[in-house]
Amino acid sequence: MFIDSDKFHEECGVVAIYAHPEASKLAYLGLHALQHRGQESAGIASSDGNTVFVHKAMGLVMDIFSNEEVLRKLPGSLAIGHNRYSTTGDSALLNAQPIRVDCNKGMIALAHNGNLVNALDIRTRLEKAGSIFQTTSDTEVIVHLIAQSREQTLPDAIADSLRRIEGAFSLVIMTRDRVFAARDPRGFRPLSLGKIPANDVNRTDTYVFASESCAFDLIGAEFVRDVKPGELVVVGPEGMHSRFYAETRKQSSCIFEHVYFSRPDSKIFGQSVQVSREALGRQLAREAPVDADIVVPVPDSGVTAALGYAAESGLDFRFGLIRNHYVGRTFIEPEQRVRDFGVKLKLNPVRSLLEGKRVVLIDDSIVRGTTSKKIVRMVRDAGAKEVHLRISCPPTISPCFYGVDTPEKSQLIGANMTVEQIRDWIDADSLSYLSLEGMKRACNEGEKTTYCVACYTGIYPTEFVDIKDVKPAPAIVRG
Ligand code: SF4
Repeated sequence: MFIDSDKFHEECGVVAIYAHPEASKLAYLGLHALQHRGQESAGIASSDGNTVFVHKAMGLVMDIFSNEEVLRKLPGSLAIGHNRYSTTGDSALLNAQPIRVDCNKGMIALAHNGNLVNALDIRTRLEKAGSIFQTTSDTEVIVHLIAQSREQTLPDAIADSLRRIEGAFSLVIMTRDRVFAARDPRGFRPLSLGKIPANDVNRTDTYVFASESCAFDLIGAEFVRDVKPGELVVVGPEGMHSRFYAETRKQSSCIFEHVYFSRPDSKIFGQSVQVSREALGRQLAREAPVDADIVVPVPDSGVTAALGYAAESGLDFRFGLIRNHYVGRTFIEPEQRVRDFGVKLKLNPVRSLLEGKRVVLIDDSIVRGTTSKKIVRMVRDAGAKEVHLRISCPPTISPCFYGVDTPEKSQLIGANMTVEQIRDWIDADSLSYLSLEGMKRACNEGEKTTYCVACYTGIYPTEFVDIKDVKPAPAIVRG
């Protein structure tokens, strides 16, 4: 996907390190590998066994933590970190994570990826009972629930709190001497467990948790397994323990992680993203072939699906659009307005490749349609004879309430126009989306993994949401 205001935004990334002499440095490197999941703010909390330290700021991980002085103020062998793109609450520093509190259960720091769908309901009840909230983020309700739990031990209080929240959450929690990691019972968001074996510097095994396994590679950790839906893992002085804190629900892992969010070098929900994303492109080529000369991806996220499309169709794969990676949020536009300035800042066509060609353009989604329209125009203006747009998932017809920042239904072109009307509006020679069944097959849906596809169907897997006008799934499977 081409990152633009017209498109979806990433959600968040979390990382946790247990038992390493440079825990905050590893957390920083892990967050750097997860930067694609959120670019508005980042934070790290560390523990030296006595106190929990925290530093968070607006901006990119590298800008916040590349200063050694900042990391020196985060001592200890335990750390958790968080990258944020705001999906609830506003984007102020106030809502940056990890959230740290000192409550009746001790010092706790918490970082959350996902979105709760009953946070407003819980917050209203807690506020009526006298709780005072300091942020506008949904994550803070978890902290309040832990503090108010009648359970005697912290693991029990966390489990009790997790049973009360509904929606998407992959969480890492740190106390003075323990790290907890948990996923919601439907497993919406990924969370992996890794290990750095003991060596000269580090006398015991280091345990690592991260939203995506690509974070392990940079810090020399090996992938162990996914944290399972409904699982609460704790690592502490007594070793690692795991328990299932809730009834099993039908797994609803976010299929859009495979389509767009996660990095191709990650393994999520038991499957390599590279493999599934290429399979999406292959399936698209089988379902929507076209007589053309070259396959061109919309960089960067269209690249892997385009490789699959080209391999399956036998057409040449060409980088006909070049992305400028060094684009900040604000740019001064020339006074004499340049048409499609925002898109041109980020993408430029390679005329020598496109001129006179029949082009299959591959992208991962169309949200409002305005960016796709500009890209099609850009490819035509560069001399392409025909532009055939292929999308590696079905039309997005409904918003996400589980951590992906989607515009409301009225803004989603797929919810308001037929495929032919969209084709006509964006002025492509042809337009095809991947089928729902084709997408699930490419992502290996089966006995081991089942997916949430609510933004393509409008049928939501949770029983209750704060938001009106959405249909829950007719049947919830309990194990
Ligand atoms: S609604 Fe779409 S984006 Fe949201 S969790 Fe489900 S599949 Fe993922």
